[in-house]
Amino acid sequence: MAVQSLYRRYRPRRFDELKGQEHVVRALRNAVINHREGQAYLFSGPRGTGKTSTARILAKVLNCESPEDGEPCGICNSCGSIDSGNSYDVLELDAASNNGVENMRDLIERSSLGNPGRHRVFILDEVHMLSKAAEAALLKTLEEPPPHVVFVLATTDPQKVSETIRSRTQHLQFHLLPLHDLEEHVRWVIKDANLKVSEDAIAHVLIQGGGSARDTLSALELIAAGGGEVGEQMSSDEFIEAISEQDPARALAATAFSIQQGNDPRSLTEEIVRHLRECFLSLMAPELVQLPEQRATVVADQARKLGPSTLVRSIEVLGESLIEMRHAPDARLLLEVSLVKLTNQTLGGDIAAIIGRLERLEAGVVRTADATGPVAKPVPVNPATGKVQVGGKARMPQTSTPTPATQPKPVASTPAPASVSKPSEPASDSQVVAKWAEVLTGLKPFVRALYSAVTPQSCNDTTLTLAAPNEMHMTKAQEHIPVVVAQLETVTGRTLAIEFTVDKDATSPTSRNARPKVQETEISDEVDRSEIVDAPNKAMPSAMDQLTKAFPGSQVVDQAKKK
Ligand SMILES: [Zn+2]
Repeated sequence: MAVQSLYRRYRPRRFDELKGQEHVVRALRNAVINHREGQAYLFSGPRGTGKTSTARILAKVLNCESPEDGEPCGICNSCGSIDSGNSYDVLELDAASNNGVENMRDLIERSSLGNPGRHRVFILDEVHMLSKAAEAALLKTLEEPPPHVVFVLATTDPQKVSETIRSRTQHLQFHLLPLHDLEEHVRWVIKDANLKVSEDAIAHVLIQGGGSARDTLSALELIAAGGGEVGEQMSSDEFIEAISEQDPARALAATAFSIQQGNDPRSLTEEIVRHLRECFLSLMAPELVQLPEQRATVVADQARKLGPSTLVRSIEVLGESLIEMRHAPDARLLLEVSLVKLTNQTLGGDIAAIIGRLERLEAGVVRTADATGPVAKPVPVNPATGKVQVGGKARMPQTSTPTPATQPKPVASTPAPASVSKPSEPASDSQVVAKWAEVLTGLKPFVRALYSAVTPQSCNDTTLTLAAPNEMHMTKAQEHIPVVVAQLETVTGRTLAIEFTVDKDATSPTSRNARPKVQETEISDEVDRSEIVDAPNKAMPSAMDQLTKAFPGSQVVDQAKKK
């Protein structure tokens, strides 16, 4: 028997063989049964999810001599020739390599020639790669398609298909296959093709496939050709463990081995990123992890050891190197540099590296020299969501910090909330005044600004009296009395009411904040010249002193301007 790839051999030939695309199948079968098939379809979805296979099935059923319930018979001449790829009714064009306007004109010319009574199906793969001119030519044809012609435009990137094209087509979206469906399919193929493949290898194949039927079967084919075992292939586990153990030598050895085995650095990097992504999902949204159960447990354990920061940083660093690899002559070097960065956190002094290190310390991964080192602490899991809690705040034990009410109250005194913890020894009256600065620092910025301008005047058993610079300021400050009372209690251990007075001297700058009053020395009207000469040599004479020295016998007329 001629060697045929597994994917071709097990390519779906009927709608009901199409895996995981029930919504697409339903729409197309109903259209065929009711003879209401469209003339232009846009099939979008990841590679290997069955877009062109579906287009071929559509072509078959439209031309089948005895279709049944919207399915092709699969045995008539027409079905046979389409299956073997010799039919004139199906035309496949890869828009990525035939993206010019000439290719499109040629296609359109051919589309106008048709056998009466037969449907011709034009499949344009990767339609988002068409040039502008080619797209314009296609658009014209889509506006008035020849009868019995069906266009199927396939793309992995529907956002890049112009809006005008999209608006003239029926858009059907193909999805990646759920793991369960894919596993069932793989096991069926193994049985049908009589392959010998180990359980480990099946798990490996499913991971490699990443939800694409074609990629999965290609991976299966490789494994089967190699004896059905995963063999000596370096698994990406080695890289993940090297990052988590902070072992650059291990990471570099794994790289060398992998490349020696024939992996290219780019796809190797992609594989590591894919693995890191699984770890990331396993931390953040375990329900989205598409892995066999046993494998999911391994990945969850790796994810826990790495911690979210290291995971994010690793994905970022390797993702950046993937972009650079497009232009770099030596992709391997880029991969190696990235891996060393990730396995030697001292090289990356950024905050993410430090947070990552802390998280791994918390997870008990970093080995410490002495036995009294940090005790392994399980990563906290939110019982409501079953997800790991991330971030500094979530990790802190939840302490209740009572926030006192801040409603404006015209009353001058308010009892403080009782729940505030008190210092062991309440402060004395004078200590309360002395601790005023400490009280201020604990207030919110706005309240702190207001209360910075008031001065504690006196304190007795029940009341602290504050002096405000003016009436308006006092009224403003009174609105926040409850917060200040609470803060006062926290700092001094005393439950005090607050009363206000207006400081009559408050307009004088020197009386603010109970600053010690500056001693203003009288300057005598008459200055003895000998005194000046004999005056003690001050280190820093004031400007006024210097002036009076310069003008012996002068008088200072306006004292207010002294400062
Ligand atoms: Zn048929």
